[in-house]
Amino acid sequence: MKKLVLMAGGQGSGKGTMAQKILKDNPNFKYVETGAMLRALPDNSPLKQIMARGEFVPDADLCNLLTEKIVPQHDTILDGFPRQLSQAQWLLMKFANRFDMVAVYLNISRELMEKRIKQRISEGVGRADDADKTVVQRRLDSFFNKTVPALDWMKNSKQIKFLDIPIRDVSIDENYATLTQILCKNNVITR
Ligand code: AMP
Repeated sequence: MKKLVLMAGGQGSGKGTMAQKILKDNPNFKYVETGAMLRALPDNSPLKQIMARGEFVPDADLCNLLTEKIVPQHDTILDGFPRQLSQAQWLLMKFANRFDMVAVYLNISRELMEKRIKQRISEGVGRADDADKTVVQRRLDSFFNKTVPALDWMKNSKQIKFLDIPIRDVSIDENYATLTQILCKNNVITR
């Protein structure tokens, strides 16, 4: 069976950066990122307005889009999903018997998340939805109030291997070294 690797972690955890590094070293993986998938929708899509407010788009819309993208012929990294319990339940129901499922949780403190978001803004590399303080706080709150309980649920599920990766205030390369060591040890990647 192919692998479905769920990359999880709050804003500033380095999720996207780490995923890109894994893909470069392991080109057998296909990459599906819900945020990018949604940003690619036409500007007049009602989902775009929901995103601009920093709210979650409805599960039904996202699950429809994902059903087309996740195919059992490819090892796949899924970035940005699940973000809440209903999504975690849907994912396991739909894919647990078609993939070896692994959750990779980049575990970073709220303090370090806030520090990194501020840094991104001051360096001018933040995204449009990083610039508004209320939106940033809303995204952080929903991570702790909705995503963390979904991750806890997955941690207790027998259908998924759960890897908790400590993300520290050190360089990207140092955090990546910790990550790859754990992923190799668990046969998720080979290098
Ligand atoms: P991201 O780039 O992952 O931070 O996603 C940007 C925005 O897309 C989020 O603030 C949400 O509005 C929406 N989004 C991405 N993934 C999900 C998800 N799993 N559930 C609901 N909304 C999502």
